[in-house]
Amino acid sequence: MMRFDIMTLFPDLVQTVLGESILGRAQKNGAISVRTHNIRDYTEDKHRRVDDTPYGGGKGMLMMAPPIYNCYQAVLKQQEAEELNTDMRRRVIYLSPMGKVLTQSRAAELARDYDNLILLCGHYEGVDRRIVDEIVDEEISIGDFVLTGGEIPACILTDCVARLVDGVLSDAECYEKESISSGMLEYPQYTRPYEYHGVKVPDVLLSGHHANIDQWREEQAISLTERLRPELLKRD
Ligand code: SAM
Repeated sequence: MMRFDIMTLFPDLVQTVLGESILGRAQKNGAISVRTHNIRDYTEDKHRRVDDTPYGGGKGMLMMAPPIYNCYQAVLKQQEAEELNTDMRRRVIYLSPMGKVLTQSRAAELARDYDNLILLCGHYEGVDRRIVDEIVDEEISIGDFVLTGGEIPACILTDCVARLVDGVLSDAECYEKESISSGMLEYPQYTRPYEYHGVKVPDVLLSGHHANIDQWREEQAISLTERLRPELLKRD
């Protein structure tokens, strides 16, 4: 079982995305647990403010450190109350465009090495650097572009890691042979109808010869990768 604690100003956004489909079912069957924590609930400001202008000037607002720190402490307390605190392998991650870009292999390491990911979502112009330095183990970016908030990146990281956790997908083969995981793109796949807009499913897939099918799929995967993502074949 893997637990995700997501610290955010917009918990509904995260819950809506992660509560549906495969990850919704995985939460119901106990393969993963996703908890959201509203940072605003931990503000010390009487107007419930969580952001302020940056020192030194500049546009936009920055999330203040104290509400995030208080929220983080509350997550730890909640885990302690649930007697999860003792030997849980925990990692605190700030979703940030400054982090290393997420890869399938980093997601696989996170799924393998940790039982609990605590994810911090920034918003506005980001967060006070001191909170990152104090509580965060790692910064992860989902790509070299900038979004308005860390909620979508947190959902992406959670989705990518969670599907590698035992019991989330029905069969490990679902991801082992997939694009990127295998070091290449996946071979093309077909389902009914047999003929669609004049194009038939390749004969080999109906032949029943599994060795031939495997060979065809491998050739197709190589050729697709060479055409669409040649850089994948150059990685060691
Ligand atoms: N001022 C920050 C900078 O220049 O690095 C950007 C802040 S961004 C507008 C607001 C928040 O969105 C960030 O704190 C982060 O949590 C999230 N975010 C934006 N782009 C992201 C990305 N590519 N990967 C992960 N998180 C991202």
